[in-house]
Amino acid sequence: MTPTATDASTKTSLTGIKPTDTPHLGNYLGAIRPALKLSEQFKSYYFIADYHAITTLRDPVALQQNVYDVAATWLACGLDPERTVFFRQSDVLEVFELAWILSCLVATGQLERGHAYKDALAKGDAAPNAGIFYYPVLMAADILLYDTDVVPVGKDQKQHIEVCRDLAVRFNHVYGDGVLVVPEAHISEDAPLVPGLDGEKMSKSRGNSIPLFASAKELRKVVMKITTGSETLEEPKVAEGTTVYELTKQLTPSIADDMKRKLEAGNYGWGHAKQDFFEALDAELGPKRDVYTAFRSDEEKLDRVLADGAERARSLARATMARVREAIGIARPIDDLRRTVSLKRSDIPM
Ligand code: AMP
Repeated sequence: MTPTATDASTKTSLTGIKPTDTPHLGNYLGAIRPALKLSEQFKSYYFIADYHAITTLRDPVALQQNVYDVAATWLACGLDPERTVFFRQSDVLEVFELAWILSCLVATGQLERGHAYKDALAKGDAAPNAGIFYYPVLMAADILLYDTDVVPVGKDQKQHIEVCRDLAVRFNHVYGDGVLVVPEAHISEDAPLVPGLDGEKMSKSRGNSIPLFASAKELRKVVMKITTGSETLEEPKVAEGTTVYELTKQLTPSIADDMKRKLEAGNYGWGHAKQDFFEALDAELGPKRDVYTAFRSDEEKLDRVLADGAERARSLARATMARVREAIGIARPIDDLRRTVSLKRSDIPM
């Protein structure tokens, strides 16, 4: 029998979201929209990688705010917490136990070749923290804990998925076939880079980003800052390669086709193109902006959504860890474990 969509829907995909900044249009087009599409095809897990964020972010208030920003953003963009499992990484502590077990199977040399670690060194950080060094192991634990079949990632993460696959294969080889699910990377080779206002890659740190949930008025003001050519209104213009056209193409291809035709015909200025892009953007983001605002103003609700997801994620994590512990010889019958957990300090004889 050939694989069908039904087969795929029984497979699990997992997406990690690092809460290091408030998401912008580049994150939306490059990561959020494609990742949410996967939930039509797979049983999808999405987690906010707060423990990954502390390798670089040391501002506790910012971290907490970012987690809520990210949670509200993904929910506003269409993540359905009933049909998917949406949770905070830090709510499932089993991930650290698995990370330690995996770290005993990985050679330090393999981590020394890790991209995140090498990038930190290349950027002049003479002594990157061990969290950056260890990052691929925690990432592998994130993936393996939930029996993940596919991990959608950009090209830059390909190597980290290879480390994860190596670790799963090594674990199964050492401790027994089939204990861990060996995941596959879904690499989006052709995922286009979203340009920022200046035409360079959109990123918060470059100051060229388009905010996702600014008011329509603010959004229009930002869009009007997109760099363009200086041709007159009447002149025909080349659309291909220009920032406003590329952004429109990534947002709504049919509107971009129209824009291209109008630019090439002349009597259509860059200001018109930016207005058309703004209208397309506002049509896409406007309804989401309202949902975002409602969620973002209710942190307790966000906590409840994430706690519910964590509960479901934890049941799967516990099942995986029961298998893993037994396989490595640290088996503890679950009843024993429950008794240990319920002991109070006063119950423990001195
Ligand atoms: P960051 O917070 O910059 O690490 O971005 C998180 C994810 O958003 C990345 O892994 C990309 O998938 C996506 N992303 C961010 N900026 C862009 C961009 N300018 N173009 C395309 N994708 C982007």
